[in-house]
Amino acid sequence: MPQRRSRSRRVARGVLHDRAPMPMLVPYTEAAESARRERLGGGDCMMCSLRDGLAGPRYLLEETEHATTLLCRYARRFGHVLVVLSAHVTALSDVGQDRWLAASAQAFRAATLVERALGAVRCYVGSFGSPRGDLPLSGPHVHLHVIPTYDVDDRPSRVLSSESGIYVAEEREWAALHARLAREARAWPARHAVVFDAPR
Ligand SMILES: [Zn+2]
Repeated sequence: MPQRRSRSRRVARGVLHDRAPMPMLVPYTEAAESARRERLGGGDCMMCSLRDGLAGPRYLLEETEHATTLLCRYARRFGHVLVVLSAHVTALSDVGQDRWLAASAQAFRAATLVERALGAVRCYVGSFGSPRGDLPLSGPHVHLHVIPTYDVDDRPSRVLSSESGIYVAEEREWAALHARLAREARAWPARHAVVFDAPR
């Protein structure tokens, strides 16, 4: 885990340097403390708080009756997206196939969007939530991660682990990324039934 902030850890390692603002890699404990402070106005569930905009600004990509797709501000990689089920459901066996398929379709749309807009070499898509309720950057509430990677050697063991740190950014940088994805979605509307709005 890194001991200090560093702008030198470029996410894209040469691919995106001149095309994207780069977030900052911080230790997990620092990111967790920041997330905890942001949730002071939220409830007990991190995912419900994110869904409702009670855990810092919400950079919405798509919202349906089944799930909310938004930028993850405590990211494993630049362009990390969360798809949070609308209902507070904590077990896959309680989700139901229709709701799961709808959320998966949102994850697919998000993955194609970040793949195209950010030039990712691949996207990891999946549900990796913990049943524990005391993890500051996660929660038992079922959600999907869409994590683009830009390095062909970026293995799941690194991408999905918080041990190497968490990427954070200034709000203007998240807003710029959000705007960039919005531009891409508008340029490719047939494939992105994505609804953008201002951060809130
Ligand atoms: Zn919840």
